[in-house]
Amino acid sequence: MAYKKINVLFASFEATPFIKTGGLGDVAGSLPAALQYPACEVRVILPKLRQIPQQYHDQMQFLTSFGVPLGWRVQHCGVFTLKLGKIRYYFLDNEYYFYRDSAYGYGDDCERVAYFSKAVLECLQHIDFHPDIIHANDWHTALIPVFLREQYRGMELYDRIKTVYTIHNLKFQGVCWRFYLGDILGLAGCKNAEDQLNWDRDAINFMQGALYYSDYITTVSPTYAREICGSTFGEGLDGVLAQHQDRLEGILNGIDTEKFDPQKAAFPFSAADMSGKRACKAALQQELGLPVRDDSPLAVLISRLTDQKGLDLLAGCLGSLLYNNVQIAILGTGDPHYEGMLSNAANANENMAIRLAFDEPLSQRMYAGADMLLMPSLFEPCGLNQMIAMAYGTLPVVRETGGLRDSVIPYNQFTGEGTGFSFRGTSAWELENCVLTAARVFWDNREHWERLQKQAMAQDFSWKNSAKAYRAIYRKILA
Ligand code: ADP
Repeated sequence: MAYKKINVLFASFEATPFIKTGGLGDVAGSLPAALQYPACEVRVILPKLRQIPQQYHDQMQFLTSFGVPLGWRVQHCGVFTLKLGKIRYYFLDNEYYFYRDSAYGYGDDCERVAYFSKAVLECLQHIDFHPDIIHANDWHTALIPVFLREQYRGMELYDRIKTVYTIHNLKFQGVCWRFYLGDILGLAGCKNAEDQLNWDRDAINFMQGALYYSDYITTVSPTYAREICGSTFGEGLDGVLAQHQDRLEGILNGIDTEKFDPQKAAFPFSAADMSGKRACKAALQQELGLPVRDDSPLAVLISRLTDQKGLDLLAGCLGSLLYNNVQIAILGTGDPHYEGMLSNAANANENMAIRLAFDEPLSQRMYAGADMLLMPSLFEPCGLNQMIAMAYGTLPVVRETGGLRDSVIPYNQFTGEGTGFSFRGTSAWELENCVLTAARVFWDNREHWERLQKQAMAQDFSWKNSAKAYRAIYRKILA
């Protein structure tokens, strides 16, 4: 069946290969290309952050500039463009907001993202692309649906645009001082906005605004979509989400299967011939200063070091795992408390290594060389690590929450079915038990272990199915 062509503007604060601090960067870097279809043209709009590698800054072409009204001020915006692969990217430039030492973490982050959201909408008057859909992502672009309805309604260029809003992590919502409503957002006196952004007496909440104002809400796994409608995972927005459940859908993320391909590892391998994986493991153990032993299962954790990622569970069983000859390697940065605790443990144990860094090439060597990937997250909207790990035959050990539950099939000791190992609770002994169960399969039941690896590698985590589901939503809200 032939569909009418849909133009989609995909707005995000980060996207690979330009900038990535977590899963949002991966998704915005690979979903748009999968959405691209004869009947669907997707373009991506990003802030021109200083962290974007110089080679891309050099390739960008200047298009135009204009002023962005933001409360009582008008801020400059330059538009640059670049085509990479199938996708045309727009970069919005303002050195005051975007030329800083890191992408996030500033006292005026709410003003920076408000500026970006407003600039995305203003930009439409100056470029030759007219979207039917604006697809906004996470709290950084949550104000797009709000501004669109409250400040651009009635203008022909904007009137027919529909919005899809994707929650990648409900934890970060953009809560700021109520004074911003007038001073930055220019929405003082707008009764709807006052009500729908209202968080508590002195605060407003950008993400809550997006939930009310967008035409459709998605999140990144079916289980997380259910979980966030309840108070345990709802982060205070469960009431609003439950109220809008009829236009809330969970679509499991995919991964970039061309990038995460075991055939491209330093020692290439495939499900049919895993000898390269053994070589990758030995090279990784050597690189990390671990004993080079094929008979020690090597478990890695590649993550932001925050409480969300279940590091307290790991802390509670680290000693026992190491004592039982499980090697542990950690790559990540984050909360100084976890960095210190894990570094001390690594210094005291020859079976443990840690690298406090954000290092993509090393992460790929770890996915390729490890036997297991630890992901005991307390909550996990989707999680990409476990899917990347499975692509390399590295078996995930996960807590059954969010996308982890939707993407890892737990090991069945009787039939040998499964793609990883999982547990339910939030106590350290459950993680310990789960890792040691995996280790016992690794040592004592090679047939099952190899079968699990093959089954994990055979999973289809490409973006194909998710992209189809997003296109169906676009068509539904435009109908
Ligand atoms: P989140 O978005 O919550 O941080 P996800 O699992 O959705 O977690 O995505 C994390 C992405 O970031 C994965 O691609 C993972 O490999 C990558 N990543 C996390 N920490 C590091 C690190 N220290 N170095 C390199 N890549 C990392």
